[in-house]
Amino acid sequence: MAVLRVDRSDSFTHQPDVDDHPMDSGSAPVDLKIRIESVVAIAADNVASVDRDARFPEEAVAAARAQRLLGIMVPRDFGGEGAGLSDVVDICYSLGRACSSTAMIYAMHQIMVACLIRHWRNTAWYEHLLRRVCAEQLLLASSTTEGGGGGDIRSSEAPIERNGSRITLERRATVISYGAKADAIVTTARRSADASASDQVLVVFLKEDYALEPLLEWDTLGMRGTCSAGFTLRASGDSAQILPDPYEKIHTQTMAPVAHLTWASVWAGIAAAAVARAQFFIRHSARHANGQIPPGAAHFTRANASLRTLRGLLASSLRRYEEASHDEEALASLDFQTMINLTKVEVSELAVSTVMSAFRACGLSGYRNDSEFAIGRYLRDVLSSPIMINNDRILANIASASLMSAIPSSLRD
Ligand SMILES: Cc1cc2nc3c(=O)[nH]c(=O)nc-3n(C[C@H](O)[C@H](O)[C@H](O)COP(=O)(O)OP(=O)(O)OC[C@H]3O[C@@H](n4cnc5c(N)ncnc54)[C@H](O)[C@@H]3O)c2cc1C
Repeated sequence: MAVLRVDRSDSFTHQPDVDDHPMDSGSAPVDLKIRIESVVAIAADNVASVDRDARFPEEAVAAARAQRLLGIMVPRDFGGEGAGLSDVVDICYSLGRACSSTAMIYAMHQIMVACLIRHWRNTAWYEHLLRRVCAEQLLLASSTTEGGGGGDIRSSEAPIERNGSRITLERRATVISYGAKADAIVTTARRSADASASDQVLVVFLKEDYALEPLLEWDTLGMRGTCSAGFTLRASGDSAQILPDPYEKIHTQTMAPVAHLTWASVWAGIAAAAVARAQFFIRHSARHANGQIPPGAAHFTRANASLRTLRGLLASSLRRYEEASHDEEALASLDFQTMINLTKVEVSELAVSTVMSAFRACGLSGYRNDSEFAIGRYLRDVLSSPIMINNDRILANIASASLMSAIPSSLRD
């Protein structure tokens, strides 16, 4: 394997050779595990200060760049490694165990990459962008939340304004994770001033295309290192920067499924880290009590059980997405859309209850911030999961679809 070298300005100087692309063999890539582990170790080393200072995880993101993890899903023809979503969710899970914010940043970036890969339709501007994502390891941020609209992603206020082939956009982007650190922002927008709020497009603006005026700070309970501040985004570019597919299609086929699966993997990682800590606590307590298992052990068992349920649910949803991903009709079906939305709701609820059980297993030792068994950060971070596109909103949106879905008549359906 060729040596990776990163200069002080974080720009990547390595050109891949053939040995760097073991992904296409269909089995687990030989060097991917090592590359992931090195990023995870750096994320873990810095997690305390990232959380305490609500700072962007510079070191871990630089390491992910150095290991070329930002462009792995891009097809090899354009400089990537042709990795699948299952590789990416595994990375999200591993990072989630070490640093929730780094994991969520990685997940959000990959959701945007997935949208580009599936919906660029061989346009020259996007081919160039995909090549740059790999060669320069560009970090993509996402802007869907706007004004007072909260998590209503399928509705945009600000329209794309056109002047010949030039476009402009000004939107009150109330939450953009790592907006100030990104190399590009991928944003939803109303197609035009006379389009309805749900007639949306997805546009990529490169850093040189926009200015960000601060609107809101990000001083939150958890996920502090995502630096999800609010900005007025003022951007201009070329109409070629609008993805050719309508957002409705991008949302159904890629944005919602990939977001729910990658976010869920991050939350699963947080839950797994909390369970590992509870296990450590129970073992430690038993060792110091002549092998007597502490009374909180039942909570650990419960945490372990809900983690298993969570992982099983996530693996099954991932499999269903991979099976359906080349079938547009299957992806658009009520059954699939209900399943993928419920995955987000269920995994987030299970992740919270898993961390709560781990916390109760550790008792006061878990409650303390100065203890090696502290659960506080996991709990604060995982509490973002039910509100990140609020579960109430999702459940209300799929209520009628759920009424129309048949109840399976066999366990094997
Ligand atoms: C860590 C983190 C990172 C984020 N990063 C980004 C980012 O990079 N880019 C971005 O654009 N956004 C981002 N977001 C924002 C996210 O996408 C949602 O917009 C946001 O979580 C919605 O929050 P909200 O509670 O204000 O809005 P809402 O979803 O509007 O919810 C507000 C309240 O209304 C209730 N509610 C809403 N609809 C219904 C309904 N139909 N039925 C019943 N009750 C309802 C909810 O229960 C909730 O109490 C991020 C959020 C988090 C937590």
